[in-house]
Amino acid sequence: MQHQFSITGERLSGHSGIVELMDDLGAALAGTGKTHMRMLGGGNPAHVPPVQKVWRERLQAIVDDTEHCDRMLANYDGPGGNPRFRESFAGALRDIYGWDVGPENIAVTNGGQTAFFFLFTLLAGEMADGRFRKVVLPLVPEYIGYSDQGVAEGIFQSFRPRIEQLDGHSFKYRIDFDALKVDENSAAICVSRPTNPTGNVLTDDEVSRLADLASEANIPLIIDNAYGEPFPGAVFEPIAPMWNRSMVMTFSLSKLGLPGTRTGIVLADEEIASRIRTMTGIVGLANNNIGQAIVEPMLRSGELLQLSREVIRPFYQKKAEAAHAMVAKHFADDFPYSVHRSEGAFFLWLWFPELPIATRELYTRLKNRGVLVVPGEYFFYGLEDADNDWPHRRQCIRVTFSQGEEVVEDGIRILADELRQLHA
Ligand code: PLP
Repeated sequence: MQHQFSITGERLSGHSGIVELMDDLGAALAGTGKTHMRMLGGGNPAHVPPVQKVWRERLQAIVDDTEHCDRMLANYDGPGGNPRFRESFAGALRDIYGWDVGPENIAVTNGGQTAFFFLFTLLAGEMADGRFRKVVLPLVPEYIGYSDQGVAEGIFQSFRPRIEQLDGHSFKYRIDFDALKVDENSAAICVSRPTNPTGNVLTDDEVSRLADLASEANIPLIIDNAYGEPFPGAVFEPIAPMWNRSMVMTFSLSKLGLPGTRTGIVLADEEIASRIRTMTGIVGLANNNIGQAIVEPMLRSGELLQLSREVIRPFYQKKAEAAHAMVAKHFADDFPYSVHRSEGAFFLWLWFPELPIATRELYTRLKNRGVLVVPGEYFFYGLEDADNDWPHRRQCIRVTFSQGEEVVEDGIRILADELRQLHA
């Protein structure tokens, strides 16, 4: 039978380069490919033994409490999430940051990814008055997972950053506030902090300027804390997170090591939180509640914060430092490369200013040698056509350092070797 699909159906299910890439990454993790792959792609959290032990103990405690276990497995929660979890999550934000939030400001979703689909669909696209509003990404490269989201096509308007050269082989992106434009056609401003793919952490000053711009335009500033504060806390720079009622924050249990529980959390004013709850009800009835049950008592006791600050953050910071050292070891000092300063998350963002081929081709060559990275091109979406000839967007790759040290070092060694050959 020849199926016929709607325009939206086609958009959300048709083949795309990035889906192909994700299939490669999935196959590598499942070990189903032909070649043994060093998995330096994807955003999978590391398996951190002391953290995994905590999750196993929490699951065991739930199973041992028959009544709790039966309630968790056999009852649907309301679409906004488990009431006790929402209260505890809001309570943790009050305790940690002093924010004036309650459960009415919280909506649980099936992962952060779903939260973004709902938020973008809610805010961007065609409005009742005929305008088409777009989500402003004040700094690309930005998280690849937003790029195909939203029911409407073309919902992003992105801006190139300023590139600040630091010492010899390192750089940092900064928002170019002179170029950034927010107007009546903007639906929201959105950033991930730390940023996937670069490990950039927007400064408090940048965030506060974005918050001002958003509130002047009467639109939300959305901050994606998937890797950030307070959980899992993979932020290596001291920051002071802020929230006010015109901001939307998203959190996730995934990077704590619980991606299988599909738990995202949206913090917003009552109206947006309530609409997200309704969207969950319409799309999926309710959320997976196992992640909420695992962490809820740890939110109340403060143990989740302690685990994030004392175990998870140092774990990734050490990994970041080790990965930087490997790059310095395997790339000759006179080789043209630069690495984004690691301020958080699980990635190195490498820039090869004299790369003679597209990063997509570099990706294929590396894949043939058993190393999976993510080509940088995909992270630069939503730019104006005029930015097509900006060479920088074809010169970067993302390397994940959350896997075992030998895997990462092997991958970086092969990467350096491949680039040496290419440049020769
Ligand atoms: N936001 C960012 C920046 C991410 O990197 C990810 C996953 O990699 C997500 C959101 C979504 O994660 P999840 O749906 O597992 O919460």
